[in-house]
Amino acid sequence: MKNEKGSLIRPDALPSSASRPVVTPLSPSVVYASDTPDMLDQQYEGGLHGYTYAREGHPNADVVAKRLDRMEGAPHMGVVTASGMAAVSAVLLGLTTSGEHVIGGNQLYGRSLRMMNEDLPRLGIATSMVDPGDIAAMRAAIRPETRMIVIEVVSNPTLMVADIKGLAALCKETGVLLVVDNTFTTPRAIRPFDLGADIVIHSVTKLLAGHSDVMLGYVAARDVALNDRLRVFSVTAGLNPSPFDCWLAERGMLSFDLRFDRAQATAVQLADHLAGLPGVTRVIYPGRADHPDHARASDLLGGQFCNMLSFVIDGDRAAANAFTRAADGLSFAPTLGDVGTTISHPASSSHRALTAENREALGMTEGFFRVSVGLEDPDALCAVFSDAVAAAIQA
Ligand code: PLP
Repeated sequence: MKNEKGSLIRPDALPSSASRPVVTPLSPSVVYASDTPDMLDQQYEGGLHGYTYAREGHPNADVVAKRLDRMEGAPHMGVVTASGMAAVSAVLLGLTTSGEHVIGGNQLYGRSLRMMNEDLPRLGIATSMVDPGDIAAMRAAIRPETRMIVIEVVSNPTLMVADIKGLAALCKETGVLLVVDNTFTTPRAIRPFDLGADIVIHSVTKLLAGHSDVMLGYVAARDVALNDRLRVFSVTAGLNPSPFDCWLAERGMLSFDLRFDRAQATAVQLADHLAGLPGVTRVIYPGRADHPDHARASDLLGGQFCNMLSFVIDGDRAAANAFTRAADGLSFAPTLGDVGTTISHPASSSHRALTAENREALGMTEGFFRVSVGLEDPDALCAVFSDAVAAAIQA
């Protein structure tokens, strides 16, 4: 039988075009074909750039990485991962060795805390949780075997601000790596590398992608050897992202600055509005003069106080239920950074494992809510909160 090329399964190369698409093409291919074994050698040895297998890298991930590298001022191309937790895992599991010690900020994202409290000790890595605003306590916690300090700039959901400048100086002095999860604050408000951080992490899932339809993470290191190590570990552990999620994330990131500015301006308005409502006993927003860390936030965030705020209604679980029921046009959902405003209730979600006394000590009573402000009309949003708080205090 004649060998007809057309009878093969994939006979044709992509059509060539002298012009290029404006929109990044989606490249779902898991494998990439090279012309010859010599060519493959050159690709693996770095003489020729070419993708081989999508777990090791693909164009859509690189497009996202380059964009984030620019935003964060990362010195080398960062690693895009399947989720924010995959990026946290790459750092905590990929850069530590049994016998070492890791310090975490005491109000890290719950799953990061869980990895520190449960998984690292199981692997022979000791951990301590310390207030990232207290440099003396951090200094006291450092041991000869301390490998890294992991913090978030603004804590969740109490919105306390880490002393990142003090920590960068302490880490430099003691040779400990400073790892900053910049998910809440984003590079629009702070660029941790500029302040001396060694590693920056993101849950791209949140504000950066911005539409609650993508799970993605990012991590980059200042030191090239550490950056390479993060990449190799991510490939080995299979932390790679899907091309489609990267494609969606890039699309979301095109409007990130505009979304961030709009949501933040509305957060300023909503914080002040809530503070004037009867039944609201406390509003926590770093941009307000009454926030305990307002001076530090002003110094670090250059006037960008972000889109997250928390507030407390004077009431019990019945009041909390009445509030979410009355605010039913908004999503009562434990995430942040969506185009729409979302509300979360730590006592029944992120902090449900704590005793009521422990929650009380952190100020997280049944009336405590966290708000991720979205892109709604600001006046309409304030009106929804007025009605919902009124319903809560009548409950
Ligand atoms: N870091 C922070 C600060 C977060 O808020 C989250 C998720 O909420 C993560 C990391 C984990 O990210 P992901 O949900 O994309 O795994």
